Amino acid sequence: MNQPQTPRILIVGGGFGGLNAARALRRANAEITLLDRQNHHLFQPLLYQVATAALSPGDIAAPLRKVLERQRNCTVHLAEVASIDLHARRAITTTGATYDYDYLVLAAGSQTAYFGHDDWPARAPGLKTIDDALDIRRRYLLAFERAETESDPQARRRALTFAIVGAGPTGVEMAGAMAELARQTMRRSFRRLDTRDARIILIDGNHRVLETFPPDLSARAARDLERLGVELRLGRHVTAVEADAITIGAGPDAARIETTNIIWAAGVQGVPLAATLGVPLDRAGRVIVNPDLSIPNHAEAFVIGDLALAKDASTGKQTPGVAQAAMQAGRHAGRIIANEIASSPPPPRGGGQADAQRQPGGGASPHPVSPSQPPLRASVPSSLRPFFHYKDKGELATIGRARAVANLNRLHLGGYPAWLLWALVHITYLIGYRSKLLTLLNWAWLYLFYDRGVRLITGRDTNP
Ligand SMILES: Cc1cc2nc3c(=O)[nH]c(=O)nc-3n(C[C@H](O)[C@H](O)[C@H](O)COP(=O)(O)OP(=O)(O)OC[C@H]3O[C@@H](n4cnc5c(N)ncnc54)[C@H](O)[C@@H]3O)c2cc1C
Repeated sequence: MNQPQTPRILIVGGGFGGLNAARALRRANAEITLLDRQNHHLFQPLLYQVATAALSPGDIAAPLRKVLERQRNCTVHLAEVASIDLHARRAITTTGATYDYDYLVLAAGSQTAYFGHDDWPARAPGLKTIDDALDIRRRYLLAFERAETESDPQARRRALTFAIVGAGPTGVEMAGAMAELARQTMRRSFRRLDTRDARIILIDGNHRVLETFPPDLSARAARDLERLGVELRLGRHVTAVEADAITIGAGPDAARIETTNIIWAAGVQGVPLAATLGVPLDRAGRVIVNPDLSIPNHAEAFVIGDLALAKDASTGKQTPGVAQAAMQAGRHAGRIIANEIASSPPPPRGGGQADAQRQPGGGASPHPVSPSQPPLRASVPSSLRPFFHYKDKGELATIGRARAVANLNRLHLGGYPAWLLWALVHITYLIGYRSKLLTLLNWAWLYLFYDRGVRLITGRDTNP
């Protein structure tokens, strides 16, 4: 007798989008598998605080197995997906293991973009993972160690010059925190060196910092940065990145800044996995999705978060690459799938249980399906599903201790109230009570004593 099969849902990526999709499916009668190449969910908005020694990695990351341990219909696998075959409804990992699905939620996010300059990443690291943050922290602290023992004034100046490229929220937050670290936190820790001599230079091709914010808040953030001693170099693009210098502008206007510390916070693009789908992508490598967030002609496959070029169904405006948009998209896709599973019982998939097949990687497919048993079809066409509407709750950026800007659409805040709101929002969205408590304690300590307790140089290369 033909047996109805439990629908198999594959979620690729346990970031903001993937995790919210999984949670929206918690009551679904389905077998959910969540794949991530990292074993943890990372709260990227606070990554710069790990890079600037305010927080530890464990404060802002949570193991995915722990986060989803109570969700009995969901299995977590540590795996990197190398390609996705939309027609076969199958994901293939870098080890050759395969995962067949009835529904796919692709939430693999973005990576740092260097706009075709393949030699720049090694000289100007970006900030996307915990390893990136620890690398930046190491480089930053090592620069001061180098300067403390350096007798050549020019080499010392070069070591103490930090160029941050990109004056969006990440660049602004990083510049503010690095300036505070040099001017306040580390002031008394060195004997020969005056850490206040450090130059923090924030560079952007746009003419104002925080370009997506309203002009009054950009101006406020620029003022706050300058008060902290950050030098702003706006309106000129980076034209060269060398091991010991960065050049902005071209021709007679070009300015070469000698520095051995360059940090890249200037852009993102979709992860390369998107290119394996064989569907149209935009210039930033994102998948152009239908209004319900599914891939055109593949109603069973959704792309959400940073990897999708999605538009709000009522305004037609592109949804921004921010955590809120990814979370809302995850919930949207999850609810559509949950409703379809609940409203149409899955058709039988053919005779009896499929045997576990050996897979190219040597392991059994976690979602085995025999070739004679076609996978389930999504029952509802994309155009009949609810469309995605992005609810814009505003944007926040902090510029240092008790300084921030908040754009709450009609209400613009700066200074202490904005900073309190920033702290409250970030604590609310951090995953797990332990992380919330530790982060609050660290912030209270930082606020009261200007002390960043995680000034640890880690990694093998600790030679200044
Ligand atoms: C430094 C920084 C600061 C930010 N600050 C803010 C902020 O203040 N406010 C804000 O709203 N947004 C901020 N963002 C943006 C926000 O973090 C992203 O918009 C959000 O994380 C997107 O969610 P996502 O689920 O699409 O992707 P992500 O959260 O990036 O999750 C993608 C997941 O997919 C996994 N993955 C990727 N490729 C594969 C693969 N091939 N196989 C398996 N797994 C894979 C990754 O390991 C990751 O866990 C910031 C981002 C960064 C990098």
